[in-house]
Amino acid sequence: MERVLGDKWIEIDVDAIKNNLVAVNSQLEEKTRLIAVIKANAYGHGAVETARILYQNGVDFFAVSYLYEALELRKAGIRSAILVFSPIIHEDELKEAISQHITITIASYADWKLLEYVSYGFNNYIRVHLKLDTGLGRFGLTGEEALALTQEIKDHPHVHLEGIYTHMAEAASNPAYTEKQFASFMKTIHRLEDAGIKIPVKHCANSAVFLKYPHMHLDGVRLGTLLSGQYPAGKFDQVLDLKDPYCFKSRVISVRSLKKGSYLGYYRSYRLRQDAQIAVIPVGFSDGLALEVANKPAGFWDMLKSMAKIMLMYFNVPRFSLHLILNGVACPVRGKVFMQMALLEIPSGYDVNIGDEVELPVRKTLASRSITRVYTQRGKAGKISCQEGTNYTVDEM
Ligand SMILES: *Cc1c(COP(=O)(O)O)cnc(C)c1O
Repeated sequence: MERVLGDKWIEIDVDAIKNNLVAVNSQLEEKTRLIAVIKANAYGHGAVETARILYQNGVDFFAVSYLYEALELRKAGIRSAILVFSPIIHEDELKEAISQHITITIASYADWKLLEYVSYGFNNYIRVHLKLDTGLGRFGLTGEEALALTQEIKDHPHVHLEGIYTHMAEAASNPAYTEKQFASFMKTIHRLEDAGIKIPVKHCANSAVFLKYPHMHLDGVRLGTLLSGQYPAGKFDQVLDLKDPYCFKSRVISVRSLKKGSYLGYYRSYRLRQDAQIAVIPVGFSDGLALEVANKPAGFWDMLKSMAKIMLMYFNVPRFSLHLILNGVACPVRGKVFMQMALLEIPSGYDVNIGDEVELPVRKTLASRSITRVYTQRGKAGKISCQEGTNYTVDEM
């Protein structure tokens, strides 16, 4: 592969993305549409490139969290339907969304009023999806609100109520709560139908729901995690043959031999227990290395687990300390990870050279967006472009 400026890059295996799409499609009934969720830069894989790969393999419906993400896709020439999950709160942005044929979420009465106000300046067919909150506590209408609102929407000359959806809070671990949310969603849908309002695309399944509750597939499923080659957090039968398309790589930029007892890193955070070679890798926490999602623990047990993990890390228990793969061998990161660098301990006598490739366990959704994504097919990288912010591409993507 040609050299990447900065000696760090993320390889994205185009064949793995296609594989995951095929795997997911094999579990879909004819009537159920796949809505490919490519928010957060397609979970780190590159939104535009992922959209192109999926589109060229039959996906024609995408979803993202924010309007700016949808506009980035439009700008790159993606013409498919794109649903934006979040409310669009500014008049000028809503106008932009309408003129770019973005599918808009209505999650409150205020959302509808703004859309109604803005829409009269347009002759476009405006696609909207209603969002119901059935127990996640994020955005959404109550059933009552949805009933009232649809009475107003249905008379609008060019707003088309294409979809209605909700989002599950605990699908991986709590079937009772998930079924309760589903029942509440279906109840509202039936009440709407009784009032003469039929909405064609009803959807409530993310990856966890898709795997565990086939009766909740309805008219569409919103999948991100599975397409990105992973199972959602929790226990799942591994029925789909998924492949992770993502691999974060870098190169050794320095190697030195240090004596037992030498200190490594700020605060002398590690002391060598044996003579070793120390390699410097040009990747640090600003790239996403050693970052974790640090939410408040979900419960007492969750807190104990987090604390236990930190303690095991403190005592350098191998399975819980950060490792990078160098020439097929797992080597521990020593000392505190720096902003843009990390130190690696390599057993002395082991053959390591400047320029050797390493694989890093950087969580895909935390890997910095500024890192070049290299798209590979059948193991071969695409053309290189040296412009900053431009990714490598594979011709026949
Ligand atoms: C992120 C998201 C999804 C996709 O969830 P996965 O578990 O990654 O498949 C679906 N719907 C909404 C509203 C989301 O925010």
